Amino acid sequence: MLTCHQVAEEATEYMEGTAPPPRRLGVWAHLRLCPNCREYLRQLGRTIGLARQALAPPPPAEVEDQLAAIFATQGRPGAAE
Ligand SMILES: [Zn+2]
Repeated sequence: MLTCHQVAEEATEYMEGTAPPPRRLGVWAHLRLCPNCREYLRQLGRTIGLARQALAPPPPAEVEDQLAAIFATQGRPGAAE
């Protein structure tokens, strides 16, 4: 059984899905039993999501123009006629 400290160290890799399965299982098992760590990972996930959004560059203007041109000639993907 992992300690809360170990779970905190594994948390980022666990959230990103990059931890190897045996370690994921250890974190997962701990989370089943530890509401404190569940809350910690919930908040961490929110933080990671916000950080990714903040770091993602906006699409270049020419890409938006090309997409607009494609949509104008072909219609949006999945759109019903
Ligand atoms: Zn814990």
